Amino acid sequence: MVNKYWKINERVMHYIEQRDIVLASLIKGECEEKDEIIVNRLITSSERFEVLKRQFWKCNICGCKLKFKKENDWIGEVAHIDHIHPFSKKESYPNGPLLINELSNLQGLCPTCNLKKGSKRIQ
Ligand SMILES: [Zn+2]
Repeated sequence: MVNKYWKINERVMHYIEQRDIVLASLIKGECEEKDEIIVNRLITSSERFEVLKRQFWKCNICGCKLKFKKENDWIGEVAHIDHIHPFSKKESYPNGPLLINELSNLQGLCPTCNLKKGSKRIQ
């Protein structure tokens, strides 16, 4: 059974400071086990950039080129940023639901692979 609530520890605070995407509903001085934080799935543009750069601007599954700016032109497919451990299952994410958007859980996929991955998950 996964605990719904996560302690606001140093790691989580660091994460909150680094990102502007976490709505803290109960951060009031003292940090207790019960403090609840709602995480949304917004990925910032700098995070997108980091994820895609790490993959050398290639789809993590098929290796096709993902969109990036070269000189004055954009080349490649539009990149989709995918959660390796699905966002919808964040409660079971090994590092805790608050860290579901951490860079190590993100990958860039081309639209075709993202669609395939999505349909596989539903089956
Ligand atoms: Zn692909």
